[in-house]
Amino acid sequence: MKAAIATEFGSILKIEEVAQPQIKPHQILVKIHACGVCHTDLHACHGDWPVKPSLPLIPGHEGVGEVVEVGAAVKHIKLGDRVGIPWLFSACGHCEYCLSGDENLCLSQQNAGYSVNGSYAEYCAADADYVVKVPEGLNFLEAAPLFCAGVTTYKALKVSTAKPGNWVAIFGIGGLGHLAVQYAVAMGFRVVAVDTGEAKRQLAMSLGAEFFFDFKMDNVVDLILEGTGGVHASVCTAVSKAGFRQSYDVVRRGGKCVLVGLPPEDLPLPIFNTVLNGVSVVGSIVGTRKDLEECLEFAARGKVKAIIEEKKLDDINTIFADMEKGEITGRIVMSM
Ligand code: NAD
Ligand code: ZN
Ligand code: ZN
Repeated sequence: MKAAIATEFGSILKIEEVAQPQIKPHQILVKIHACGVCHTDLHACHGDWPVKPSLPLIPGHEGVGEVVEVGAAVKHIKLGDRVGIPWLFSACGHCEYCLSGDENLCLSQQNAGYSVNGSYAEYCAADADYVVKVPEGLNFLEAAPLFCAGVTTYKALKVSTAKPGNWVAIFGIGGLGHLAVQYAVAMGFRVVAVDTGEAKRQLAMSLGAEFFFDFKMDNVVDLILEGTGGVHASVCTAVSKAGFRQSYDVVRRGGKCVLVGLPPEDLPLPIFNTVLNGVSVVGSIVGTRKDLEECLEFAARGKVKAIIEEKKLDDINTIFADMEKGEITGRIVMSM
């Protein structure tokens, strides 16, 4: 099968013919029809984070397609089912976190396109218990980004505990952020969006944001405080420490700052303001299978729609270059 492979951190991916994966009894084989390109894949291929993947690696954790082989022990998935393979490739199913509905925190989890091969390929093996079905009425191209960008931002908004009518600031209107704006609007929140450039401004406003501020031109913090009196919650998907600091500074007393983006940097936390303002700073990592089902349901009901540009596996290195420059509007989805 054809696959894109990372062989060295920081180098371009190689497009090669490799053997199709062999499945284990609890697994299924998925013929990948589409796979979104997440900024996490770029971090993986650059070895940006403290825990690095081992190479060679096939990246990709927004792969969706059709089940073409079913392991002997699998009962609930059948040939022809339409499924997606998310970042949470598998979890142990019996630890404290798995048992309390926090499987995304399982210490024994595996991650698609990071600790195991992912969906930048024509076929991908998956754990049958951790794939999620694509609902009727959603095609593969529009479903793919929901398997990471969608579920991650939907979950982060739940973690924010914002209520209908509350102000939520979304920092970074990229693959994740453009879906965050839509989920926030669908959940009844009022949205302030922050990114740079006319394309992102138009995108955010067309999706229902009430304000857009440009982090390169505007005094973002003052303008948000002026326009909203301080947001009840912020969700930061920006790949920039400066964006995280601003997402903290715009939260009103008692509000929540939800950290989602993963720039390889640290954020010094002002103790005095955090204490006196009673602000919570909380991380949010992808979502559970249940979160994913709910997030797909929003899209199936037409409340949320990923803005996508279709490309091919052969384009991956130019897609990564554009992503690094912040020049992508919405999500790029590779069709196989
Ligand atoms: P993307 O490249 O599509 O979007 C990032 C956006 O941030 C771009 O539009 C860029 O212009 C914008 N940006 C950069 N600096 C900014 C600033 N100072 N203020 C506001 N916006 C700024 O990336 P993506 O695929 O949306 O991923 C975003 C980040 O989220 C990555 O670090 C990725 O690894 C991480 N991520 C986290 C989770 C999770 O579960 N927590 C899941 C998926 C991705
Ligand atoms: Zn992702
Ligand atoms: Zn577990």
